Amino acid sequence: MIAALFLKQRITTMSISRAIFPFFGLGDKLVTEEVRAKRLVTCVKECESYLSLTGQCEICNCFVKEKTEFKNEACPLKKW
Ligand code: SF4
Repeated sequence: MIAALFLKQRITTMSISRAIFPFFGLGDKLVTEEVRAKRLVTCVKECESYLSLTGQCEICNCFVKEKTEFKNEACPLKKW
């Protein structure tokens, strides 16, 4: 139950960069919310390399909540 709530919060909460980047004219650096959600589900729900304790990718050490937002980022295992 707690894990499900944590997952939902991580997927639906607007990130700081999503809130701030458009303000500075950098919105084009971000993927759409739909793309981000799909990426995040892949990381959080479908990948064995996702570290739920810290929210990081075990391969690249990135925080996936942030990593999944940017157009220039890619999954090191080519899952997205
Ligand atoms: S970025 Fe790729 S390897 Fe890392 S957690 Fe996400 S899907 Fe897994």
